[in-house]
Amino acid sequence: MVDLKGQYSDIKDVVSTSIENVIENTAFINGPKVHEFQKNLEDYLGVKHVIPCANGTDALQIAMMGLGLKPGDEVITADFTFAATVEVIALLNLTPVLVDVNEDDFNIDIEAIKRAITPKTKAIVPVHLFGQCANMEEILNIAKEHNLFVIEDNAQAIGANYTFKDGKKAKAGTIGNVGATSFFPSKNLGAYGDGGAIFTNDSDLAHTIRGIVNHGMYERYHHDVVGVNSRLDSIQAAVLDAKLPKLDSYNKSRQNAARKYNEAFKAIKNVLTPKLSNGCGKNICETCDCHVFHQYTLRIKDADRDALVKHLNEKGIPCGVYYPIPLHSQKAYADERYNEEDFPITNRLVKEVISLPMHTELDDDQIDFITTTIINFING
Ligand SMILES: *Cc1c(COP(=O)(O)O)cnc(C)c1O
Repeated sequence: MVDLKGQYSDIKDVVSTSIENVIENTAFINGPKVHEFQKNLEDYLGVKHVIPCANGTDALQIAMMGLGLKPGDEVITADFTFAATVEVIALLNLTPVLVDVNEDDFNIDIEAIKRAITPKTKAIVPVHLFGQCANMEEILNIAKEHNLFVIEDNAQAIGANYTFKDGKKAKAGTIGNVGATSFFPSKNLGAYGDGGAIFTNDSDLAHTIRGIVNHGMYERYHHDVVGVNSRLDSIQAAVLDAKLPKLDSYNKSRQNAARKYNEAFKAIKNVLTPKLSNGCGKNICETCDCHVFHQYTLRIKDADRDALVKHLNEKGIPCGVYYPIPLHSQKAYADERYNEEDFPITNRLVKEVISLPMHTELDDDQIDFITTTIINFING
């Protein structure tokens, strides 16, 4: 699904030097490299504050702690996402409220958000699934109207742009009150281990969060709030700082691969290619920057998706089903509040979706082999 080795060979020297410098300086925790990476990421994103932390799940949890959400507060998020999003809501004793998604872009459904709002609702967590933003314009409107926080789960869309109706652009993760991202190795900006970060333009919130990631300390050995220990290792910061200047070209490679996949499947009516929902029109244009294809996800209509997965595995082609079970059907998150009729799209998508290999090193021969194998299977 990913080819981290191929990507490494291209940046080996700069990564090795960067890591060696950290080792020479022995500043393994909160060293200068972490600060440098933080500054460089702030510049890249055009956001006032980046607070590095240990992983993307922590980033989400800390964002919610920073906003002062309290047990019983309802937090609306998508039913079709990775479990980390809902896990931290539950872990903080907040009440997760899962809602359905759109079939076109797999992102949270605006009308479903509106229906789920109660007097207890305190926040919305849009997940920019597979690499493109949820409908942030509408989400910000709803949040303003109901006085809610917006926490972006940006683990899958770092570097993507969101274009507002007036033409203004902003980077994914910098649009709501706070954004959270992951530097898990397979993410678009991946470390060589775990890592994560929180983004915000709110300086008071940034201050609060900087204390929370460090045991609730704002002054050494004064613990003003209950915090956590969540740090980005200096060695991981060295890797990330070496890769950050390449992020745009990495995302371009992914978009090129997506364009070739789309082209190959154009005439296959049982195979629905990913739709772009904001900023870019209907097709992936040359200058497209609204979708960074963390995953390239097809919908298989009127054909056996599971048999296709098996067939691809037999042919040595990796593929993934993200995600096979709706969160509202997971044992940990099932709740009598939920009705199956409220999740028609997620319930369908879990049976239709298949994600193909997507990374910065895909070449034409690989794409040909993958697409031909799928088309032959579909045409039976
Ligand atoms: C990867 C991911 C996370 C969690 O990130 P970790 O760094 O693995 O903790 C959260 N949300 C989504 C949507 C993700 O894809």
